[in-house]
Amino acid sequence: MSVGVGIRIVGVRQSDGLVLVGVLSPDGTEVSIVTDLDTFWASPHGFVAASPTGATQQVEHVELVPPVVKSARVLCVGLNYSDHVKEGSYRDEPLPEIPTLFARWPASLSIDGAGIPVPSTEDGLDWEGEVVAWIGAPLVDATPEEALAAVVGYSTFNDVTSRRAQKETSQWTMGKNGDRSGPIGPMVPAAVVGDLRDGLQIETRVNGEVVQHGSTAQMIYGVGETLAHISRSFTINPGDLLATGTPSGVGYARTPPWLLHPGDVVEVEVERLGVLTNHIVDNTHRHQALFAAPNESEKV
Ligand code: MG
Repeated sequence: MSVGVGIRIVGVRQSDGLVLVGVLSPDGTEVSIVTDLDTFWASPHGFVAASPTGATQQVEHVELVPPVVKSARVLCVGLNYSDHVKEGSYRDEPLPEIPTLFARWPASLSIDGAGIPVPSTEDGLDWEGEVVAWIGAPLVDATPEEALAAVVGYSTFNDVTSRRAQKETSQWTMGKNGDRSGPIGPMVPAAVVGDLRDGLQIETRVNGEVVQHGSTAQMIYGVGETLAHISRSFTINPGDLLATGTPSGVGYARTPPWLLHPGDVVEVEVERLGVLTNHIVDNTHRHQALFAAPNESEKV
């Protein structure tokens, strides 16, 4: 798979808790500050098109975080690749005309390199390699074309799932909001990425073995259509995110099931967006994080 990666936008948390937005250098060792998070999301299309003018910092000396505002909604499409629908527990039902949507809180998001703990109630965690769209303009009763034009960037995402909790009831919230369970890669400007309907290759690997391989061209509900649909029920704000669903090959649908355990390494690679690498840790890391300084909790 080719890994042509362009501009990569990240959050940089300062020691006082303020989050700035920066652009990574091509080798990933430096970050050039653009502006603070709220200013960025007030005019994101302008900032992604301009060169950063702020100070340059060494990545090893700063804490990277997702460039997500606290008020952001993380909207997620379930069952958006037909081959994934066929492998799961909804396989005998007709494809719904309306996308299944669920929500994550921003508190569940983490970054490339983060350790993801297995909750004490789970036998392991499942992987879902995905693409996230970042929305850069308000959307109210938008057309699909207007909604797609509002997307300011895309990121590689892993919708890491606690399957036992997800399947325990009809609502998915408990299974989709585990601590650090939503690692999200740097944002790449939409103008660089192009249209997902043209087909970006997406691949998930566990300990180096390919477990998912698909193309974003296989999506049932497009980004524009899904955002337009949501915008008829509530206003989508700049800084909100849309996780676009996963291809087939998740762990629980395999025979026998295959879940992630402490020590495993899971990678999601999306063409033009880059590789997202995370390792799995045990539940004690959730308790340790309670006592760590805020700027340490993301690095466990
Ligand atoms: Mg998913």
